[in-house]
Amino acid sequence: MDISNTENIEKSEGGFICCGCGEWVGFSDSIGTRHRNHCPRCLCSRHLDKEVSGDRSADCGGCMDPVGLTLKHEGTDKYGRPKKGEVMIVHRCRVCGEVSINRMAADDDEREILNMFASSSSMAEAERENFKKRGIRILDDGDKDEVYVQLFGKGFGVR
Ligand SMILES: [Zn+2]
Ligand SMILES: [Zn+2]
Repeated sequence: MDISNTENIEKSEGGFICCGCGEWVGFSDSIGTRHRNHCPRCLCSRHLDKEVSGDRSADCGGCMDPVGLTLKHEGTDKYGRPKKGEVMIVHRCRVCGEVSINRMAADDDEREILNMFASSSSMAEAERENFKKRGIRILDDGDKDEVYVQLFGKGFGVR
């Protein structure tokens, strides 16, 4: 893709050039991606997100890699079992290490999400602990059913 061309488009229309794969990511009203902050193809994001509460380092501009999935508003019920919230993508900034949690978008590449989920399930325990300290539980194989149901709906078939 011609980068100089896409920069012109970026000025006139909503969107950004992905810092991960270099592709143009446009905003579209039709699929609920007006607030899209990550690439649907490689899921990378740029560290500019001002919607994350407490994140005031929005001028970092670093590329944020998807490192795993988590569940939003997760807590425990009265039996101490984890409640299921919305599956979210966990991003980590390559530059400053800041972590953010983002909603999946309707046009996110499902294979990419599953690939990323698969590699995150073998995340080192120490790294997993680091997320836990931030209150983020990185999903693992035990959450597979929930991830599939949220991605593909109930009664999904393995693709
Ligand atoms: Zn990308
Ligand atoms: Zn950053």
